[in-house]
Amino acid sequence: MAARKGLIIVYTGDGKGKTSAALGAAMRSLGHGFRVLIIQFFKGDWPITYGELELARQLHPKFEVLQLGRGFVKIMGDKKPFEEHVEAAKAALTLTRERMFSGEYDLIILDEVNYALGYMDFKLIELADVLELLRTKPPEMHIILTGRNAPPEVVEMADLVTEMREVKHPMKRGIPAQKGIDY
Ligand code: ATP
Ligand code: MG
Repeated sequence: MAARKGLIIVYTGDGKGKTSAALGAAMRSLGHGFRVLIIQFFKGDWPITYGELELARQLHPKFEVLQLGRGFVKIMGDKKPFEEHVEAAKAALTLTRERMFSGEYDLIILDEVNYALGYMDFKLIELADVLELLRTKPPEMHIILTGRNAPPEVVEMADLVTEMREVKHPMKRGIPAQKGIDY
């Protein structure tokens, strides 16, 4: 059997489905008995519980979801010092590095990491650090990065890039996020 080629996968764009697509790959991997880790760069400190977090509790240690963010940055009533968000994102990146080199994971998902690389008027982590991570990752490990506005350098390094394009979104008609679909 040919050795596995660990892919760098990017789900970006304005339409819904980036995290959902990554979770789809996680489900497939778990079905094969692979070990999957999701590091969420913004989620955390939010009042809602994501379905994937509940599932990870049931499938531990095969499936782990770590919410290392501090929630919304500068929007939705965020009053935390900006430094707190920066520290959290940096810690998430350090942990990603440690877990990645442990060699224990078949798939690591960096959920919303693209936002941490620069969104609106803020930036939480350095692009060079993420590129270094991608360059040095274990060759058989798959990695998925999600979030709008993937930097061109990340797109360049990736093996697979899909851009979600919004055709319709219920939010535009005032329909709020739905359990099981949005969280
Ligand atoms: P999902 O997690 O549902 O796959 P996503 O990862 O593509 O969505 P994000 O950019 O991470 O989307 O956005 C986080 C939240 O914003 C999600 O709850 C999602 O439902 C919502 N959202 C995503 N795309 C849109 C859109 N085009 N308009 C309004 N809300 C959106
Ligand atoms: Mg998402």
